[in-house]
Amino acid sequence: MAMCLRLRRKTSSAVIMNAERTGDDDAAIGSSWKEYWQIFTQNDFPLVCPLCGHRLAKGDIDGCHIRFYHQDTKRWTLRKFIVQGHHGCNVSIKGDFQMQTGETVVEAIEK
Ligand SMILES: [Zn+2]
Repeated sequence: MAMCLRLRRKTSSAVIMNAERTGDDDAAIGSSWKEYWQIFTQNDFPLVCPLCGHRLAKGDIDGCHIRFYHQDTKRWTLRKFIVQGHHGCNVSIKGDFQMQTGETVVEAIEK
């Protein structure tokens, strides 16, 4: 399968939102979005959740779907990106907020 993925380093000033209605999306590669992120970044899971800025324990991680706000166009990205964060943050944070740490994000490609 040929895939051209966008892999980006985002800073803690990036404005993001949790992408909605992603519960039924299956990752194109890997058994979960959490594993998908690890396959493409080749990174260990982050020690701090980029969504809330608190410590992240291995057992509490989701591959979270997020969108970014472009200040220049005043629009949200249509593409969804994956970042690893707390399961709780993934399902509960509403509206727009800032990333709390710099983190690598991977474009979400579904099956
Ligand atoms: Zn969190």
